[in-house]
Amino acid sequence: AARNPGQPEFHQAVTEVIESLWPYIQQHPKYAEHGLLDRLVEPERVIMFRVSWVDDHGEVQVNRGYRIQHSSAIGPYKGGIRFHPSVNLSILKFLAFEQTFKNALTTLPMGGGKGGSDFDPKGRSPGEVMRFCQAFVSELFRHIGSDTDVPAGDIGVGGREVGFMAGMMKKLSNRADCVFTGKGLSFGGSLIRPEATGYGTVYFAEQMLAQQGCSFAGRRVSVSGAGNVAQYAVEKAMALGAKVITVSDSSGTVVDNDGFTAEKLAELMEVKNHRYGRVSDYAERVKADFLPGVRPWHVPVDIALPCATQNELDGDDARTLVNNGVICVAEGANMPSTAAAVRVFEEAGVLYAPGKASNAGGVATSGLEMSQNAMRLSWQREEVDTRLHEIMCNIHEACLKYGRGPDGKVSYVNGANIAGFVKVADAMLAQGVV
Ligand code: NDP
Repeated sequence: AARNPGQPEFHQAVTEVIESLWPYIQQHPKYAEHGLLDRLVEPERVIMFRVSWVDDHGEVQVNRGYRIQHSSAIGPYKGGIRFHPSVNLSILKFLAFEQTFKNALTTLPMGGGKGGSDFDPKGRSPGEVMRFCQAFVSELFRHIGSDTDVPAGDIGVGGREVGFMAGMMKKLSNRADCVFTGKGLSFGGSLIRPEATGYGTVYFAEQMLAQQGCSFAGRRVSVSGAGNVAQYAVEKAMALGAKVITVSDSSGTVVDNDGFTAEKLAELMEVKNHRYGRVSDYAERVKADFLPGVRPWHVPVDIALPCATQNELDGDDARTLVNNGVICVAEGANMPSTAAAVRVFEEAGVLYAPGKASNAGGVATSGLEMSQNAMRLSWQREEVDTRLHEIMCNIHEACLKYGRGPDGKVSYVNGANIAGFVKVADAMLAQGVV
């Protein structure tokens, strides 16, 4: 803490990982040597830079840009770019740290990174968003490359923004290789990449439920968020027969006890992806209830899928979910549950999956996009989806293998942390102290 003052999210992520690794490291002392843990918690490189651009009124705006290149032990740095006013060093360091283990879990050769800016795209015109993306890449471009660091989208960065950044990258580098994933289909994007994180989260939860002879069929599900991850989590949960009751954004929660339908989801996508509107606009269009300023966790459900942002579900929310009979919580977002919430879920014996396991389908499919670009081929939808499904099942298996305690109970937190750690740590030990 003394070394990284004012970085609570980074401390939170590191503490969770180290606590669950510690018993394993005591049994495998080679991982306590060669300064391995000290190296693992220190990003290889932190880049911070000025992003200046001109808004629609001719005013100069100044934002701060970041790229955290956390670990290249198993491949080029890989992780999304986030545009949100809350972005700071602590949040991006926690995300890059988590990304390192998540990417290892996918079994694809990708190191961990994360980046972004405190730029707020809300209320900005398309021209302003484009000029901001171009200004951001005019500095970022010198630090990234197809074999160095391959960014993607995250909060506030969807297909449109990735397109603007990839276009500027191509102009500055005079190269068309794969430096961004999440691209449009017409210039190297992969089918299923937009769906991958949401679908993958539901595939993972399906595997967890199957452990207890359960499935999504007929279950009540709450989803938080209404962006990329949330939308496709809703779609896949519905496809598996669940009744999805909620979505939300930072303004409040939509509660729809009749459940989502394909038509309602199309409305949500229209409001969020094309009009850049709020979930309250969606609620009005489909005549559902909108609860301003409220999160979804008081609504009784069997399965909860937090898909918005970090620390959106606290200990009290977790107790409410447990008291209402929740059986499974799978994180589509990164670290949406606070440490207190995770304790509540694990103590209550709820099937609980941390984001680094359950939301790894997004980056896994980005890895598949990199492979397709390198081969100059594109796979069919079914092929990518089958590979995504297989990767999620393999991550689930890895969690069971490493997460089973002496009492036979599985902690997906321990399983994901240890399985990801072993791969990164072995690669670091093999490559010497660098
Ligand atoms: P989007 O920008 O598409 O959607 C984000 C959603 O979360 C919006 O509904 C947004 O509401 C809400 N949200 C964001 N910040 C806050 C906040 N501070 N408080 C309340 N609500 C908030 O992002 P994604 O769907 O891509 O990302 C969602 C989560 O999933 C993030 O944690 C991200 O890191 C994680 N993730 C994403 C992956 C991907 O492939 N996209 C891969 C793996 C993880 P509002 O519009 O009001 O801000």
